[in-house]
Amino acid sequence: MGTFKAWVVDKTEGGQSLAFRDFDEADLMDGDVTVRVTHSTLNYKDGLALTGRSPVVRRFPMIPGIDFSGVVEASDHPEYKPGDPVVLTGWGVGETHLGAYAQKARVKGDWLVPLPDGLTPEQAMAVGTAGYTAMLCLMALDAHGVKPADGPALVTGASGGVGSVAVALLARAGWHVIASTGRGDEADYLRGLGASEILDRAELGKPGRPLGKERWAAAIDAVGSTTLANVLSMTKSDGAVAACGLAQGMDLPTSVAPFILRGVSLLGINSVTTPQPKRREAWARIARDLDLGKLDTMTRRVSLEEVGRLGESILDGGVRGRTVVGVA
Ligand code: NDP
Repeated sequence: MGTFKAWVVDKTEGGQSLAFRDFDEADLMDGDVTVRVTHSTLNYKDGLALTGRSPVVRRFPMIPGIDFSGVVEASDHPEYKPGDPVVLTGWGVGETHLGAYAQKARVKGDWLVPLPDGLTPEQAMAVGTAGYTAMLCLMALDAHGVKPADGPALVTGASGGVGSVAVALLARAGWHVIASTGRGDEADYLRGLGASEILDRAELGKPGRPLGKERWAAAIDAVGSTTLANVLSMTKSDGAVAACGLAQGMDLPTSVAPFILRGVSLLGINSVTTPQPKRREAWARIARDLDLGKLDTMTRRVSLEEVGRLGESILDGGVRGRTVVGVA
């Protein structure tokens, strides 16, 4: 066994430290599949792990990075053999289990999905946890029964990772998409992804009324807090809101009014421990329904060495769309 390059978070007296260094393969955690990582990404949660701004890292030392694509190097799992291309998102990787910002990872085979047909390893990570979560939101709205004919769909945090993919997926599914953003200068970018209207996020960010004018039939919310409260208060009768994020905050200062007076449904989305059948369905739908040209326009590429320095920037809303980390 040798060493490989990795970003490593360690605990210090003042908080945590971050270094790009050699990591001993013998120190990888238990798992029945070892993967040569070829790509990872930058998600909001990675920003929290890299900076320590919120205590998402719960084991030290930790290799951050919550998702990767790569090639199986060794396997004791019946479904995987050396050479198989695989994808991993969630399951505490990069938080409690050594993660993706490294040339190697050892994980449970039960956490992996085969690389979906139609996607390259780089495209799978251009989608990454953020894009896969956007698909889980769309699937939740579909399962609820809300349809494009019922009215527009709102996306909050639209210029971010979840938001950008959500805009593209909803538009492709036939929705009139309203993109809420704090970045007015990204209006052309969002229209290019399929948004029909741009809403200044300031309109949703301040405390509002328990019930407002009915404006959208569905919403995908990556922001939480007062924004989510306002999104709910302006959702049409019997509409639904899929909530996955907390970019504004973890609180939810709302009332029961949208639920009991308009029959609005709040659908919670947790991508981390999604069971395998739903996980595979989501990836298959991404491969089928996401416009790969649009995926490319929302994606920038950085090296493994660069990603360690991008934590602050994603938390401060400075990253547009998706960021692929080239590892191999
Ligand atoms: P990004 O940072 O890429 O996107 C977040 C976007 O939210 C920003 O681009 C910005 O959009 C908007 N935003 C940022 N700060 C604020 C603020 N203070 N008030 C209002 N809007 C704000 O992150 P991701 O897309 O990777 O993740 C989005 C959220 O979803 C995160 O909270 C993340 O933790 C969560 N998430 C949850 C998952 C789950 O399983 N539930 C899985 C994946 C992500 P704009 O500039 O357009 O306004």
